[in-house]
Amino acid sequence: MEKKNKNIKSLREAINNIDEKLVKLLAERRKLSKEVVIVKDKDGKPIRDQQRETELLNKIIAIGKKHNLDSHFLTKIFYEIIDDSVRLQQKYLQNYKPENEAGILRIAIQGIEGSYSHLASTQFFAHNQEELIFLNKETFNDVVEAVEKGEADYAVLPIENTTSGGINEVYDLLLHTTLSIVGEEKFQVKHCLIGTGGSSLSKLTKIFTHYQGASQCSKFIAALPNCEITFYSDTAMSVKKIVEENNPSYGAIASEEAANLFNVKILERNIANQSENYTRFLVCSRKPKDVDLRIPAKTSLVMATSHTPGSLVDALSVFQKYHVNMTKLESRPILGNPWEEMFYLDFEGNMVDPVVRKLLEELGRYTRFLKILGTYPSKDIIKTEYKVFNDAGKIEPEENAKSKPEIPGTKLPEKSQKPKSYKLASREYKPDDTIIKVRDIIIGGDNFTVIAGPCSVESHEQIFSCAQEAKEYGAQILRGGCFKPRTSPYSFQGLGFEGLNELEAAGKTYDLPIITEVLAPDQVEAIARQADILQVGARNMQNFSLLKAVGRCHRPVMLKRGMMSSLDELLNAAEYILSQGNRQVILCERGIRTFETATRNTLDLSAIPVLKELTHLPIIVDPSHAIGQRDKVIPLAKAAKVVGAHGIMVEFHPEPEKALSDPDQALRFDQFEEMMRDLSKI
Ligand code: PEP
Ligand code: MN
Repeated sequence: MEKKNKNIKSLREAINNIDEKLVKLLAERRKLSKEVVIVKDKDGKPIRDQQRETELLNKIIAIGKKHNLDSHFLTKIFYEIIDDSVRLQQKYLQNYKPENEAGILRIAIQGIEGSYSHLASTQFFAHNQEELIFLNKETFNDVVEAVEKGEADYAVLPIENTTSGGINEVYDLLLHTTLSIVGEEKFQVKHCLIGTGGSSLSKLTKIFTHYQGASQCSKFIAALPNCEITFYSDTAMSVKKIVEENNPSYGAIASEEAANLFNVKILERNIANQSENYTRFLVCSRKPKDVDLRIPAKTSLVMATSHTPGSLVDALSVFQKYHVNMTKLESRPILGNPWEEMFYLDFEGNMVDPVVRKLLEELGRYTRFLKILGTYPSKDIIKTEYKVFNDAGKIEPEENAKSKPEIPGTKLPEKSQKPKSYKLASREYKPDDTIIKVRDIIIGGDNFTVIAGPCSVESHEQIFSCAQEAKEYGAQILRGGCFKPRTSPYSFQGLGFEGLNELEAAGKTYDLPIITEVLAPDQVEAIARQADILQVGARNMQNFSLLKAVGRCHRPVMLKRGMMSSLDELLNAAEYILSQGNRQVILCERGIRTFETATRNTLDLSAIPVLKELTHLPIIVDPSHAIGQRDKVIPLAKAAKVVGAHGIMVEFHPEPEKALSDPDQALRFDQFEEMMRDLSKI
């Protein structure tokens, strides 16, 4: 017995020695691998050389055979080794640096230490030399805000799980955030049932966990009939909770790491419905990050397709045309637009690649909203396969390794070509008219749309009587200013959100979509929740931060021509909105300032046919602000229709003389009725 023990001891020692050697050799191999990437980078060589990797595997397997090691065993081990080296080499080309001078990486996550977000972040930044600091936030929204405000360098957010599916809250955040996706991490989630001191499976009456954890372990939970489930903000927090409560009838569902961290015991391991339970996390930062073309990359975007038949099929067929592989397509409802969807799409490709740029350009023609969320290295590293050489000593080329057919027009433009100042707004980019659908109203194409209402919303009675009049005489959209851009700071500034509530209620009552002006970027989100169309006024036509803000929003925007702006400037202002993703822009000609003082402004009617040639965007004429006198609005409204405008916007008031803004140009109701009759004859 004594001798036998001694024998085991020395055998174990020998094994320990070998393991130590293995670890040292692995470290040495890693070091060499790093040196290789430095040389490859200098020589501009590709990172992966799959032929070499296969040769290496073959050689190893041949050696293994001599030592009685089977090929399956060796392939498995060397796959991990090669995978590690590929990751290391990719990290060399794609490093994630802190933005601060202290050289510390600040990572915002939802949850505390031991949460899956924390574990996935640690895995993602494993090759980084910098110190990691975690900013533990309560909600996903707080995580995003921390990075937007510059408190943290990176946000790490779970996006989908192989058991419970997409995380809607994060999808919705991606739509609105200014952050870009710069990385992804797939993390194997191994849920455990955790208990404190004297607890056991049969004693449990209450289990704390995050709702995602509960949903991924629903079958296990269903088999515990006497247990009540209490949702908690994250899995690690629920462990903290049972530690604090110290009640043997309380359990938590979380990671093994969380149990170790809080020094509590694991009652049951692997309790998820599927044993292969993975969560994909996105790493986001303030600025997009170019990915070296030698690294396999994915790009994510969010889009809404145009309101024309077959536009989703048209959009998706662009991927087929460019031989680009879509890896994910998910849809989410659009807030405030019932029964309409935003599509989230991932595809294999890199924004730096001219083919991908061409694809996105073409995709834009079929979308009314298109936002690129980011290009990032793909974590799906192609597995090195063990292949037998053919007689000539060469590996048969793989099907998908065949070179892709060249797509015409995908070469980057020559430097000497003079770049156009606007592109997305041009007819060359999109030959077909943009059609904008607001509820059931169609703007653009062959339609003539009338927008009518008071200059400002002044009271409940005033806006409701305007809405009734608009509806009765056939206007399709109700206008009303709530935030007024007045020339004098002492003039009536509008009723603000109080007015917007009234406008919204009037629109609902009379089934009319509403349009109102936004004055500042920070108002956009709140106003977009209530208004169907956002108006950017003449005075703000070149307020670029406002243009960018409405460009990130999914509501159509009516952009009014600045009173001293050229058509080229107007189209460039529209380009600001379009380039942010929002492809639903309506232009408005509202008169420009000339030497003529007899009228408030001079209506530039020639702008309409000119714009129709230059752009695919719908054009509305505002005769009220152009002429400034109610008696002369009707002829200009009719002229607008004759010259081919897609509609008009006019101001009216139940008692024009008492209007708090622009009283001189407001039509009386009888004049509005006359105008509608006259227009119907054209
Ligand atoms: C308006 O339409 O309410 C308005 C203020 O017009 P503009 O920006 O054209 O002056
Ligand atoms: Mn006005």
